[in-house]
Amino acid sequence: MYDFEEPRVREFLQRTGARRAALQLPAGLARYLPEILRPFDQLGVEPVVVAGSCYGACDLADEAARKLGSDVLVHYGHADMGLGSVMPTLYVEARIKKSPVDALELALPALDFRRVGLVTTVQHIGHLEEVASFLNSHGMQTLVGEPSFRTRYPGQVLGCDVSCAKAVAPSVDGFIYIGTGDFHPLGVAFATGKKVVSVNPVSRGFKVFMPRQEKFIKGRKAKVAQAALGKTFGVIVSTKKGQARFSLARKIVGLLSKEGKQACLLAVDDVSPESIENFCFDALVCVACPRIPIDDGERFERPVLTPFEILAMLGKVPMEPYQMDEINKEDMG
Ligand code: SF4
Repeated sequence: MYDFEEPRVREFLQRTGARRAALQLPAGLARYLPEILRPFDQLGVEPVVVAGSCYGACDLADEAARKLGSDVLVHYGHADMGLGSVMPTLYVEARIKKSPVDALELALPALDFRRVGLVTTVQHIGHLEEVASFLNSHGMQTLVGEPSFRTRYPGQVLGCDVSCAKAVAPSVDGFIYIGTGDFHPLGVAFATGKKVVSVNPVSRGFKVFMPRQEKFIKGRKAKVAQAALGKTFGVIVSTKKGQARFSLARKIVGLLSKEGKQACLLAVDDVSPESIENFCFDALVCVACPRIPIDDGERFERPVLTPFEILAMLGKVPMEPYQMDEINKEDMG
């Protein structure tokens, strides 16, 4: 199913003369480990799997790899985000081989676009040209936005960055997202105000996302209302190098303090209910990965707001149109 680029991994290990290599892979690839280890075994390179969380290229384990005495790091499942590394690092994007065209064919009745923007994750990026040709042959004009400071390929979106969709939004009637999950297409729909048809090449199903998500917004408004009753706020910032928005987190602490709330920065590596359960804040603001308040918010006993939602709570911006949290360059550091 995935391309683990064995010849490229072998070439990297030989070129760097590695004797011990740290490997990092997301949970979804863990069961492919025997296949992933093949080039390391063939060359007699000792592999050490860094088995903590690995949600994105934002979470590069180069410092951990150095502590383990590794010569190199091989990071699977994500594209290079340009963060830099303390050691030679190879990104193996683990692209999915399966073409999305048969799934697209099944989704044709929902594709009422004349001009359509194409977005996807790195796993399917290699199929975008094929997707464009298929849609062109069905009378649709396709547009693909340029990558941002966090992405590598035209058309690539992350849970925290849909810049390439925003870039072409004024010129398209809607978007086709190739991939799995709701978070990315929802983010594109909110950020562009356009319909998004999400096509899953693996299940061959499709789902339509409209920018007006009443149930979703009602749920988020309830969290904001609950947080507004609070007096003490923990502002969570991640120490992961691609998520560390200290500058934005400090601004939020300042805004909350000005409004008479007690606010404190909480620096955490892996944000989870367990990592902060001993701190008795009334509400939390997550300035780490934007997916946490939305995908994992229900796991926390207290409301967890996004930076946009805390601004809405303080009356600085209207709650609608709703904006998903995205990571911007100026918020880092
Ligand atoms: S910050 Fe979150 S959404 Fe962005 S790349 Fe990292 S894991 Fe993905």
